[in-house]
Amino acid sequence: MSILGNAISVMTNQAHQGDLEIDPSPLLAVLKDLHSQYKLLGEGAVAKYIPELAKVNPDLFSICIVTVDGQVYKVGDYDQLFTIQSISKVFAYGLALEDHGQDYVLTRVGVEPTGDAFNAIVLDEQSKRPYNPMVNAGAIATTSLIKGSGPTERLNRMLDMFRRYIGHDVFVDISVFTSERSTGHRNRAMAHLMLNFGMIDRNIEESLDLYFQQCAVMVNCQDLAVMAATLANRGINPITKEQAVDKRYIKDILSVMYTCGMYNFAGEWAYKIGIPAKSGICGGIIAVVPNKMGIGVFSPLLDVRGNSVRGVKVCEELSQRLGLHLFDCSGQQAKFG
Ligand code: GLU
Repeated sequence: MSILGNAISVMTNQAHQGDLEIDPSPLLAVLKDLHSQYKLLGEGAVAKYIPELAKVNPDLFSICIVTVDGQVYKVGDYDQLFTIQSISKVFAYGLALEDHGQDYVLTRVGVEPTGDAFNAIVLDEQSKRPYNPMVNAGAIATTSLIKGSGPTERLNRMLDMFRRYIGHDVFVDISVFTSERSTGHRNRAMAHLMLNFGMIDRNIEESLDLYFQQCAVMVNCQDLAVMAATLANRGINPITKEQAVDKRYIKDILSVMYTCGMYNFAGEWAYKIGIPAKSGICGGIIAVVPNKMGIGVFSPLLDVRGNSVRGVKVCEELSQRLGLHLFDCSGQQAKFG
């Protein structure tokens, strides 16, 4: 039986022994427990860099797990739509790898963590590449690699890629897109810097538009968990069974998520929580437990680095309670196994 299966059976036994109210799913009971515990945590602030994001209700909070065999466990506001923001970078990177292969993509975007803020205007001194695809400069360079005969075809390829991961059609929030486009001077500056060094060779306004559009794709918490579960499941959506991305690129995607996915908290995240993840200033986090499950958390209150305060706490507890840290051999997993 899988670790998760064992976790469920052990927790079921515990529930039968003690509790009057027995939840049919122990994993759902864990999610409900974490949700009621952390909804009281009111620390952090919503993103305010564009008015559309500042309008979000700070109390929204949802957690969802989708297993690689397609089971869905969800609590809270899991239907609430929000814009995917930086979480999109993971999936655009996969599409760029499919379009050009690993060798070429590596000439345009590195894989080194920066320790800097996500929007730092910095390129590698030697190679002039942006450091990695999870920071803005690297994400803009990645998006510039997405193939297509013009802006419409490139956008449609991007949207179709998201559809494969999520399992239904997705749409761009036009207000968020236009707002990002009219205020995105910093992102525009990065694009110009990369154009100067020959790291971007397409029409940069077209690529910036595509980048702003990918950030403004609307998803809910359940979508995030399905996307994460697709990465956990060798690129196959566990619900629709559609191959969303070539499985040969899963290790590339998960490696950069692991080392660079959580802004300048990525090292501490890898150390404490120990699974590949990506967050966005929307307040979403995806986390991937390879061959087991995808986790999605949404809560718009952010810490100073831009990560969801409740999202980090929930993932930390899930990692501990279910023994998810990839390098944990302390016996914690054996407790469930
Ligand atoms: N659209 C945002 C930007 O490019 C994404 C930021 C984020 O989620 O980290 O600035």
